[in-house]
Amino acid sequence: MYWRRVPKWKDVSQEQFISYQWTMSNTVNSESYLCNFLNTTLPNILTPSSDPLLRHIKTKDHFIQDAMNAFAAAPMAIRLTPHILSVVDWTAPLDDPVRRQFIPLASSFVTDHPKLTLDSLHEKQDSPVPGLVHRYPDKALFLATSICPVYCRFCTRSYAVGGNTKLVTKTPQKPSRRRWQVVFEHIEKTPALSDIVVSGGDTFYLTPQNIMEIGNRLLSIDHIKRIRFASKGLAVAPGRILDPSDDWTKALVSLSNKARGMGKHVCLHTHFNHPSEISWITKKAARYLFENNIIVRNQSVLLKGVNDSVETMGKLIRDLADMNIQPYYVYQCDLVRGIEDLRTPLSTILNLEQHLRGTIAGFMMPSFVVDLPGGGGKRLAASYDSYDAASGVSTFKAPGLPGEKAQKVYKYYDPRKRDDETIAALEGSV
Ligand code: SF4
Repeated sequence: MYWRRVPKWKDVSQEQFISYQWTMSNTVNSESYLCNFLNTTLPNILTPSSDPLLRHIKTKDHFIQDAMNAFAAAPMAIRLTPHILSVVDWTAPLDDPVRRQFIPLASSFVTDHPKLTLDSLHEKQDSPVPGLVHRYPDKALFLATSICPVYCRFCTRSYAVGGNTKLVTKTPQKPSRRRWQVVFEHIEKTPALSDIVVSGGDTFYLTPQNIMEIGNRLLSIDHIKRIRFASKGLAVAPGRILDPSDDWTKALVSLSNKARGMGKHVCLHTHFNHPSEISWITKKAARYLFENNIIVRNQSVLLKGVNDSVETMGKLIRDLADMNIQPYYVYQCDLVRGIEDLRTPLSTILNLEQHLRGTIAGFMMPSFVVDLPGGGGKRLAASYDSYDAASGVSTFKAPGLPGEKAQKVYKYYDPRKRDDETIAALEGSV
């Protein structure tokens, strides 16, 4: 009963915790709600951080103030599920890898690299109709909604996902039949397309009826052979998969079975970043999906202080494999504004790939990739054309893409280094 470590949930039963309705009504989704949660959960005195920039934060009040300062300058709004809030170690939140992903601290901010943007992958430019990103010849990304069960600080789609923040006015992709109709029509008249990723936002935020409607419509198109539903739900609210009163999983299983009967492929792509996100409920939920023939693949984002060590990434890959979840991709973090403290240089992903390959069966070894800024698509990190670690600039080409994109040179920029003087000053003030 890991959620009982959180004082306000100490009496919550397993049945309640698994209930999606309970999850929804206990999801933290505003500054005042988060302040209240932190007030009742944090100890008065915190375990010191190993990060020099955070070492001066010693008390609960200071932590809360720093977090609120950070949200005032963040591109993503607040939304955290009870599961995610229950797997944070609140006795040592400053260095906790799950806290780092969802609750920013202003003291850890590093000035943005000038090349950071809100849509670094140029998704809007690659959208022939609103809500459909068509970059590769045979595959398109259908943004069915712009809401998620949690809001990750590093979201690549921070231009659209979640509510407005003080920093960003979003371009929302509301779940609407009228908007989806335009997307379906484009897919129907584009026979080169055979593969659709239904994403957002997060398909966990679509109703079971929406899942059936979208899935059935796509399956009815002859040239569509593969459909991937993208959802972080298994990682951040796994109880819903097991909730007998909720039909989301039943809808997915039903579509997967129907697709199988048609010789087509419906699967789930999910998003775990750290082994501590995996609880016994997660394992039960993954087992349920496996027993119901749902193929699940995972796409992690490489994040500083979260999963950038060989040990942590290796454990994550093995834990996923043990749950019959294929560790599919590890992404270099995109050039997203406001998260410079979470990015790693290209050298980190190259080092991880080098040390982890050979430690696990090849079919469970993820591809370590860079989603090229400017819409070049995913390339293996090790396939760079040039990499100058001193200037932090790497270049890539994407000859498989259509038109002039095949000729372009794409650049990835390593994060700015922290200001040594600031660190020294902070260390002096501790
Ligand atoms: S769940 Fe995915 S789409 Fe939603 S905020 Fe996180 S990274 Fe972005």
